[in-house]
Amino acid sequence: MAPPIAIDAARREVLARVRPTAAEEVALDDALGRRLAADAVAEGPFQPFDNSAMDGFAVRAEDLAGAGDGVPVALDVVDESRAGHPAGRVLAAGEAIAISTGAVLPSGADTVVRVEDTEREADPDAPTGPDAAFRPWVGRVLVRVAPSLGANVRRAGEDIAAGETVLRAGAELGPAELGALATIGLDPAPVHRRPRVAVVTSGDELRGPGEPLGPGAIRDSNSRTVPGLARLAGADVVSVDWAPDEPEATRAALGRALDADVAIVCGGVSVGEHDHVKAALAKLGAEEIFWRVALKPGGPTWFGTRGGTLVFGLPGNPVSVMVTFLTFVRPALISMAGGDPATRRVTARLGAAYEKPTDRAHAVRCRLELDERGWVAWPLPRQGSHVLTSMLAADALALVPADSAGLAAGDAVEVELLDRSTMGR
Ligand code: AMP
Ligand code: MG
Repeated sequence: MAPPIAIDAARREVLARVRPTAAEEVALDDALGRRLAADAVAEGPFQPFDNSAMDGFAVRAEDLAGAGDGVPVALDVVDESRAGHPAGRVLAAGEAIAISTGAVLPSGADTVVRVEDTEREADPDAPTGPDAAFRPWVGRVLVRVAPSLGANVRRAGEDIAAGETVLRAGAELGPAELGALATIGLDPAPVHRRPRVAVVTSGDELRGPGEPLGPGAIRDSNSRTVPGLARLAGADVVSVDWAPDEPEATRAALGRALDADVAIVCGGVSVGEHDHVKAALAKLGAEEIFWRVALKPGGPTWFGTRGGTLVFGLPGNPVSVMVTFLTFVRPALISMAGGDPATRRVTARLGAAYEKPTDRAHAVRCRLELDERGWVAWPLPRQGSHVLTSMLAADALALVPADSAGLAAGDAVEVELLDRSTMGR
């Protein structure tokens, strides 16, 4: 039997076999979490025109050179520029145009004075009463400041220049990215198709919710954790199936799963008398790339391909399945959808000593705490691969290297973040 493969090498083997999914056009309303399949380039500038940063008056700075608190300068208000409604005339010397935030700077104007720095004379002809139609205010305004040239003006293209690449292919679309795409008018946007994932859980002992447990039976948790992890990694879970510990039925369930982009079978992949997954995969023509990784929990992990399908056989223990998914499957799904599969890691200090033999790497479930010197990773007390509730309290997986004989309290350790909402995204 070949020795277990190191986790970094295993990850490289997986990523080397990823083929990105095709691009599709998706409306921005449905594109949250997707990744761009092409660079997003702005045709025109944003904002498209010079405009006001304040509510106030568009003016010529030179008209107000002598203005001050005690020496207001009067300007004739000749028009209004509202957001979405530019003024209809050019500003001349001695004039002001009332302007709203975001409204077009009228031609002839070079500066905006804030409404707070002015005083308006009443408009004696203004219509009154609830039915009065809107009429731009006319009259005079007294300005009490001498603004610098260009004050309170936002130039066209200050945010985005014409021709600028706003987002690169592969960018994950979060709220800011969706807003940026809307700003440049790219809707729908070209994004990678979600990888299709088929999940199979295996084991005679497994029961779904509501089924009577009976002697020796347990609830199937992997059929919930694995699809959840897959969806958070951007996948479309197309099926969740179950196979008993029987060769024919295992082969039938796996055969259906192999039509997806990624097939994940949980459990039954070890060397027990009743583990049929490896034999079934071989019969179905899946090629083994590696079996067994130097990782605890998660040793008996199998990876192979059939045609373009990536096939993962993950160990059935509820923690092992989550750790191996995060370590090997998640990077594959992200890379398949056009993203960067690098995991989010920080260096922390270990809160308490952790001992281990120098054989395989350990992924230690930890609670993270921030003190004045940085992150501290506290190993959770129950590290058994069957203790699923330890994942409820875990913030991160501390990665203790294979060749380490253990770490003392205070030693530096790399931790992979398990962001609660995104599981390490
Ligand atoms: P296996 O990998 O099939 O040898 O299973 C290892 C351990 O994980 C056994 O204790 C199984 O009962 C348990 N297990 C396997 N599959 C699941 C599952 N879907 N949900 C909960 N526990 C499971
Ligand atoms: Mg089993």
